[in-house]
Amino acid sequence: MLWENKILSKFYAPVFHENCIVSRGVEIKELLDVRKEAIAYFQPCVSEKGKLMADIELKDEAGKILAIDPEMLCSLLEIHRRRFSSLKCSRGLGVAKFTLKGREISVFQKGKLKIQRALDKEEILKVANSVARLFWGASLCKVCGQPAIYCASGRCGRCVERKSGQVIYVQDLPNHAVIAEAVDRLMKAFDIVSKMKDELVFSLERQKESAEGGAGAAEFESFIQRAQYLALYFVSEAPTKKDGVLGLLLIGVAREIADLRDTLEKMLGAARRLSFSGRYFEANRIVEGVNLIWGVFAYALDALLSGNLGAVDEIKLKNDEISREVEEIKNYLGKLDEENRDLLSELSDGIVGLQKICSSLSSLV
Ligand SMILES: [Zn+2]
Ligand SMILES: [Zn+2]
Repeated sequence: MLWENKILSKFYAPVFHENCIVSRGVEIKELLDVRKEAIAYFQPCVSEKGKLMADIELKDEAGKILAIDPEMLCSLLEIHRRRFSSLKCSRGLGVAKFTLKGREISVFQKGKLKIQRALDKEEILKVANSVARLFWGASLCKVCGQPAIYCASGRCGRCVERKSGQVIYVQDLPNHAVIAEAVDRLMKAFDIVSKMKDELVFSLERQKESAEGGAGAAEFESFIQRAQYLALYFVSEAPTKKDGVLGLLLIGVAREIADLRDTLEKMLGAARRLSFSGRYFEANRIVEGVNLIWGVFAYALDALLSGNLGAVDEIKLKNDEISREVEEIKNYLGKLDEENRDLLSELSDGIVGLQKICSSLSSLV
């Protein structure tokens, strides 16, 4: 399915569990309303006269720490690296330090935010609120224990309220041009991945490489980066957290599409090295499995990003069919000869990986 000439007008907005971090958000204002003691101000030493510093504890109303996933935190901040005059993020230490408009900010994985060099309390709150939107996607959900981005992309498999979502019109959104462009980039990235899928099928069916080869890796990367940049910008600028959810969802979808590409690349590598001579039956089973998964993935993406819900019921049925098919393919490949074991298990892992990505996105619609 090619997206190139589609005009974006609708979008499907899933609804998340009320206790999911995606629904709850990490708004500092709300947090301070319930916990007056959550913020401590300090007047720093004489040399920094006139500057104020604050430590903010990130806890929910029950007093539980709002923990942050360091891997996702760094990955989100790196998306917006160009907005910071400096950025250091350590996945190992679980701390990020960056400078935003002259204010020094630190985010700690155990739910603490430190702001330095602010002018007054009002400014501290303003900075805290906008920074919170940047690490929202990395905040761990109390329902599933995973970072918000995985809830938003359906990957956690627990936080979506199925059938509760609704179609919304993109032009009704604040900053809708940002969303429209992000979606456009995602669709273009998906087009590139679709060509890779065709290459894989060709390679399995014909037992040789297709003429095209190496479909636009650099271009793909730039589409995915741009889509994520815009989506995170949308999250940080959205007037309400409810609007911001769409940005989290798009970041999640971008990561799934990037995963899809990595998985296909590995499968393609294995398919090219593997000789299927005399084993058309097995090769065809893999092709059928890939095509089946692809069809559902494309339907789910179309439902999400274009609000076309026509095939949603079919998606549910097809996902069951996919599970059975993938199990059978795994069995087949496991029984094939020793000599190609590694390549066969790469294909087998690949098809399981594709299924996972497909079921994540289709759980959203
Ligand atoms: Zn959640
Ligand atoms: Zn979740």
